[in-house]
Amino acid sequence: MATPTKNDAIIIVGAGAFGLSTALALAERGYVNVTVFDKQLYDETQYSYFKGSDAASADINKIVRAAYGGQTIYQELSFEGIEGWKAWNDELASGRVVPPGMSSAETIFYPHGNLVMTDTEELLPFERDTIANMERSGNKDTQLIAGDARHEEIARQKGLAFAMDPFRRRARGQRHTALLDSTGGTVLADKACRFALCKARSLGVKFVFGPAAGAFLSLNRTPGSINRILGITTQDGKVHTAAFTIIACGCWTPTLLPQLDGLCEATAGSVVIFKIPKSSPLYDRLDPENFPSWQWNMRRGAEGGLYGFPRDSNGLLKIGYRGTKYTNPKVQSDGKERSVPITRWSKSEPLTTIPVQAMKTIDRFVDSHLPELRAEGINVETTRACWYTDSYDNHLVIDRVPDTEGLMVATGGSGHAFKYMPCIGKWIVDVMERVDLNRPAIKAWQWRSLKANEQPFNVLMEGSKGNRALGNVSLVHGIKGQERARL
Ligand SMILES: Cc1cc2nc3c(=O)[nH]c(=O)nc-3n(C[C@H](O)[C@H](O)[C@H](O)COP(=O)(O)OP(=O)(O)OC[C@H]3O[C@@H](n4cnc5c(N)ncnc54)[C@H](O)[C@@H]3O)c2cc1C
Repeated sequence: MATPTKNDAIIIVGAGAFGLSTALALAERGYVNVTVFDKQLYDETQYSYFKGSDAASADINKIVRAAYGGQTIYQELSFEGIEGWKAWNDELASGRVVPPGMSSAETIFYPHGNLVMTDTEELLPFERDTIANMERSGNKDTQLIAGDARHEEIARQKGLAFAMDPFRRRARGQRHTALLDSTGGTVLADKACRFALCKARSLGVKFVFGPAAGAFLSLNRTPGSINRILGITTQDGKVHTAAFTIIACGCWTPTLLPQLDGLCEATAGSVVIFKIPKSSPLYDRLDPENFPSWQWNMRRGAEGGLYGFPRDSNGLLKIGYRGTKYTNPKVQSDGKERSVPITRWSKSEPLTTIPVQAMKTIDRFVDSHLPELRAEGINVETTRACWYTDSYDNHLVIDRVPDTEGLMVATGGSGHAFKYMPCIGKWIVDVMERVDLNRPAIKAWQWRSLKANEQPFNVLMEGSKGNRALGNVSLVHGIKGQERARL
């Protein structure tokens, strides 16, 4: 199977974290004819959900952490990503790459730590594994246990004392079982995408945006062969020829490439956003300089699975629910059901619809961890379903499509891939160039299927009868401020 030369045309479909990172890596490696297509008008919407974007990467903020339990491939990948985030901060500050509408005084990555909390008496095995693996890999004292005097002192020396108990649990006499990953923090997702877009353009990558010229319609195949891909046709009917095509369409990928059946599926997470007024004492307390990103009861089923952030520069405080991974199965043209993301362009549900279970879990968390929000009468500003691309084993999917030449897929973020944005493109290009394919990470990302005796991390394709299908769960519609009764 041929590998493209530096002058060959390469097409990337999708300008989210995977597509942008791939474009950057190709340009940095000397590929001179790279074009990225995306159906969204990102130059206008600036990757902001509030300005009309809708994609996993088009978000306010994302967690960065290197704490990965026993999964050292992601621990190491995260460290690579964190170095990249720091370099992007420096590059922005230097003025070398400043996206339109942004200034060199802005920050993309806040290294303010990521705090994992559980309502158990002890840290869970996952957190214990993280500590052990960090120590083994020369990263001792990066993981700090709340309440451990030595660790509290290390946090203080690192300027992260605020991050050990940001919800002031101990002051309220509540149990606080938590582990701070002092290497982690928050990345501002929309700004990161704008930075990567600007940087890729400056290196010569071409971008075609919009629902006609930028939207993928079909793959072009060599006449007489169904297995050799020669580029794509876009919605406007134009044929774009390429030696190599990379599909990186996030949650849309499984419906565009049905070969992913059983390997990847689009699932919904729920996001609730509060708006903190500048006049509130919470405004300063929740400033990203004073507050970490956090997770709560991530491995504790439907009643847990929350994560959150400091407020952003508009006062928006985002809390996400991932305790249940919802689906939206719909019959496709081949007669099979696949989960289809509900986005701002969908006609089926109001955009702000989320499951009652998600709202209840967030309500309970706010009551117990941030009662000041209630005391000040700060209500929900908006809600949003946000679509992930889950693989059955939670590993990424970065590989050539089997039995097909000239076509690769980069997807399967499974809720944790944004943090790799500065570096994942290099790995994707390595796979394209077939560089060192025996590395454990690359092997984990290969095309695969669930083995007969394998226990999936994510159960996929349960269909419309499954109890995670949105059609089978209670939903809350159109939540806005005071209009919502407490559930
Ligand atoms: C709610 C939520 C919270 C998350 N939190 C975190 C976190 O805290 N930390 C972390 O590391 N990761 C997190 N993730 C995961 C991370 O956001 C994703 O792994 C990553 O953003 C996926 O990027 P992507 O490029 O695969 O997909 P996307 O960002 O969805 O991009 C896909 C692109 O493909 C385009 N596209 C689709 N169809 C077509 C078509 N037919 N033609 C042209 N273009 C098309 C879309 O317009 C879109 O721009 C989270 C994900 C979600 C949903």
